[in-house]
This record gives sequence, C-alpha cells and structure tokens, in this order.
Amino acid sequence: MKPTSPTDIWGSLAAFANPVPHDVAGALRALGIDVLRELSKPDSTEYLARCPAHLALTGKQDRRPSFSVNGATGLFHCFSCGYAGPFIELVEDGLGYNRVEALQWIARHGVYRTVEDNGPAPDSAETRVSEASLALFVPPPTRACERRGVTPAACKDFGVLWNPETRHWIFPIRDPCTGELWGWQEKGKRYFRNYPAGVHKSLTLFGDLSWSGDTALLLESPLDTARAHALGIPGAFSSFGAYVSEAQMRLLKARCRNLILGQDNDTAGLASRDKIYGRWRPQGLPMKFLDYSHTSAKDLGDMGDADALSAYENAQHPWRRRR
Ligand SMILES: [Zn+2]
Repeated sequence: MKPTSPTDIWGSLAAFANPVPHDVAGALRALGIDVLRELSKPDSTEYLARCPAHLALTGKQDRRPSFSVNGATGLFHCFSCGYAGPFIELVEDGLGYNRVEALQWIARHGVYRTVEDNGPAPDSAETRVSEASLALFVPPPTRACERRGVTPAACKDFGVLWNPETRHWIFPIRDPCTGELWGWQEKGKRYFRNYPAGVHKSLTLFGDLSWSGDTALLLESPLDTARAHALGIPGAFSSFGAYVSEAQMRLLKARCRNLILGQDNDTAGLASRDKIYGRWRPQGLPMKFLDYSHTSAKDLGDMGDADALSAYENAQHPWRRRR
C-alpha cells in the first residue's frame, strides 16, 4: 500500500472536519476581529464583533456589532448581511488561505475540536421547530404569485408558503440530507427574518434538494428559484442571500456538472459571484454568469419572462464578458 503523505492527511481532514479552535476569542483576535461583547449561554459563549465581510458585501461598515461567533460550534453569522459559515471559512476569507492552510492555521492555535457540520440545532422550547410549525402557513394566493411571476404549481413543487396574517412569503429551510425542517425565511416588503434566529441556512440550499443534472442555477432569492422553475429552467437553487458558503458550494458541486451563477446585479451580488468563481473554478467546476447585458433589472425576479429566459440562455463565461 502506498504510504499516505502528510499533505494527504491534511487534505482529507480538511475535506471532512469542521475544526474549531480551542480558544475562539483568541483566534478571532489573531484574525484581527475584536470581540466587543460576550454573551454567556448555558452550553456555550457567543462572541459579538463588527462583521468583517460587511464592507465587501454591502459597501458599508458594520457599526452595530452584527457579527456573532458561537464558542462551542465555531459557526459565525452576521445578522445584517447574512455572511455565515463554519469557523474554517472565516480563516480562509480573513487570511486568503485555502482549506488546508486554514486547517493548519487552526491547528497551530492550540488544541482544536471538530464538530458536526450542522452543529447543534437551536434548542430552547420557543425556538424548536417541527413540521407542525408550518401549519400556520398556506399556499401563496394566486394574485401574489402573479405579481411575482411565479405559479402556484411552482410554489407547490418548491415548498414555498405564505403567512396569511402578515402577507409574507415563507421559505422553509431544511436539512439537505434528510429534509428535516430547521426553520424558515420570512420575506415581505421591507421585511426580512430568519426563524429561529441563527438557523443554519448557510449549510443548506433552497430548491429541489433531490434534483441532480447537467446545469444548475444559483440565485440569491428563494422566490426566484420558483420563478426559474415556472419558466422551465431546471436545477434552480438559492443560497438565501448574497453570501454563499463553502458548504453550499459543496452541495451544488455534488448535484451538477456545470453551474450558472445568478447573483444579483448589485455590489454585494457581483462581489459574491466573483469570489465563488475564483475559489471554485480551479476545483474543476465549470461556471457561467447570468447575462444582465440586455436589462437594468437587478435579479431574475425583476425581469419579464422573455428577458429572464434570455439572461439564462445567454449566460456566458466571465472572459467572454470583457470584450
Ligand atoms: Zn455583515
């Protein structure tokens, strides 16, 4: 048997483990992230800081602080811009490291633990959700569907629901392997909430998680996946926002041979799109960009049917765009 080289060992650890530094606050300081507050919980500590990705994703500094890191699971989350993921991604992003380098960096910061990728589910009585929690919601009314260019049938296929009390859209957030309900995203005019707070939406995708095929389409908005489905576009998934995590990209790569990146045509969307391309093209995933050259719309949901189909059908490789 061929001996395993140290590099292989780091590589396989990096592929499967979600390493968390022993001293999370110390590791955050070493990444240049100042912990401004600590919240003690029964089984962990939550570290609050200014979001390091805020400026890149939104064009503004985070003044709140909106960024929170769980000391037990290492999962981080910005309540404002949606930047979220396992600790190792913070190291990759902060230091410009690849997965293996980031793992080695964490290992150098003392003993580390590995925790399950999806971490412990939020577990207090008021935040525990089950399939019965969705009983409050109904299929979206036909008029709301018409306004957004989706069909009741497409909503049904993708599990899109409606809160009749608030007249908001409901997008269930499910375990990508088992389909178990983790929570949902609720969206209305000037209203946006993930429930329960801190639900690990960046570890799953919205869409038909049983789908696999040649070309998938990655969008920001969950509703736009139903729009794409209604237009006959296969394999549409949403990352629940502009930020796309490593875990979400791994889920996509397992389901398709080609990917069309359909992030919104705005600062946050284009920054996210370029970052995904730079990170994943070398991993052997061919990608094209949704074509916005014929429209001033910022996403698929803002386009008429013909423009939306044209944006999809004329998706291009990035180098073709720089003519
Ligand atoms: Zn942020």
